[in-house]
Amino acid sequence: MDIELSIIVPCYNESEVVEKFFSAMVGNNGILNNLGLNCELVFINDGSKDNTLELLKAQKEIYSNKSNLDIKIVNLSRNFGKEAAMSAGFSVASGEAIVPMDADLQHPASLIPKFVELWRQGYDVVLAKRANRQDESALKRFCSSIFYKLNNKISEIEIPQNVGDFRLFTKKVLNAINSLPENQRFMKGIFAWVGFRSITIEYEEQERIAGSSKFNGWKLWNFALQGITGFGTLPLRIWTYIGFIVSFFAFIYASFLILRTLIMGIDLPGYASLVVIILFLGGLQLMGVGILGEYVGRIYMESKRRPPFIIDEIY
Ligand code: UDP
Ligand code: MG
Repeated sequence: MDIELSIIVPCYNESEVVEKFFSAMVGNNGILNNLGLNCELVFINDGSKDNTLELLKAQKEIYSNKSNLDIKIVNLSRNFGKEAAMSAGFSVASGEAIVPMDADLQHPASLIPKFVELWRQGYDVVLAKRANRQDESALKRFCSSIFYKLNNKISEIEIPQNVGDFRLFTKKVLNAINSLPENQRFMKGIFAWVGFRSITIEYEEQERIAGSSKFNGWKLWNFALQGITGFGTLPLRIWTYIGFIVSFFAFIYASFLILRTLIMGIDLPGYASLVVIILFLGGLQLMGVGILGEYVGRIYMESKRRPPFIIDEIY
C-alpha cells in the first residue's frame, strides 16, 4: 500500500488517552476514515513507565483489519524527550505528507482535512497557529511570548509565534529534516530552518482529554535555551561589544578621576563605588563565561555524534 498521509504521535505515559486517540482518528466517526487517503499512524513510545505500549499494541490489533490504514509502533529504548521521539517517527514515516500530533488530542484532528486541502493546493508546509492560549497560566503565556520575541531578534531564523509542532508537511520537507545530522533536535527551529512554501491557519487548542502535561517550568526553560543557542551565535558574539562599551566607560571614568585629582588634589574615598564596580564587572564576566559554557557544553554533546534516539523495536 502506498501511504499518502503519515500521522506521527509521540507518546510518553499516555495510557489514559491512547484509546480515545484511536477512536477519534480511526473509530466509527474517525477523522481519517473520510479523507479517502491511505493513512499511516506512527506511534512512538518514548520510554513510557505505564502500560502505554501494551495499550498501543492492543489498539493496533483492534484496527488491523482496516483497509487504507497502517499502524506502526516504534518503541524507543528509554525516554528521549518529545523532540527525539518525533525525529524517530520522522525516520520511519513513509507518507507523501506528514502530520505530527500530540497524543492528548490538544491538537484538533478536525483540522486534518483542511491541512490536506491546502497541501493539494500546492503548499509544502501547512502551519497551525494557536488562536487561544487561555487555558495556560498567565506566567507561561508571558514567558512564551518573551521567548519568541527574544529568539526572533537574536537567532538567524524566525520561529512563528504560537505555532507548535502540529502541522502538515510534504515528503520533500521530511527528507530535508531527516538529512540534518544534529542530535540536539529543537524541532520548532529545524522546521523553520528548512523553509519551503508555507501557509498558516488558525485553530483553537483543546484541553488535554486526560492525564497531565509532561513539561514543567525547568524543562521549558532548558528547551528555550536549546532553541536560542541552537540557531544563532549572537549571545556569544555580543560579549565583544559589551566589553568595548564597558572599556569605553571605564576610560571616560578614568579620565574624569585623573582630571579631578589634578584640579582638586588627592582625594581617596571611593570604597563603595569600587565595590559596586568590581561586583558589576565580576557579574558581567560570569555571565559571559556562563553563556560560553552553554555553547561549549552543546558543542561537547554534539561532538559525541550520538544518535538522537535508539529504537528498541518496531511493531
Ligand atoms: N511527550 C513525549 N516525550 C516526553 C514528553 C512528552 O513523547 O518526554 C509527548 C506526550 O506524550 C504528548 C506530547 O509529547 O503526546 C506533548 O506533551 P504534553 O501534552 O505533555 O505537553 P503540553 O501539551 O503540555 O505542551
Ligand atoms: Mg498536551
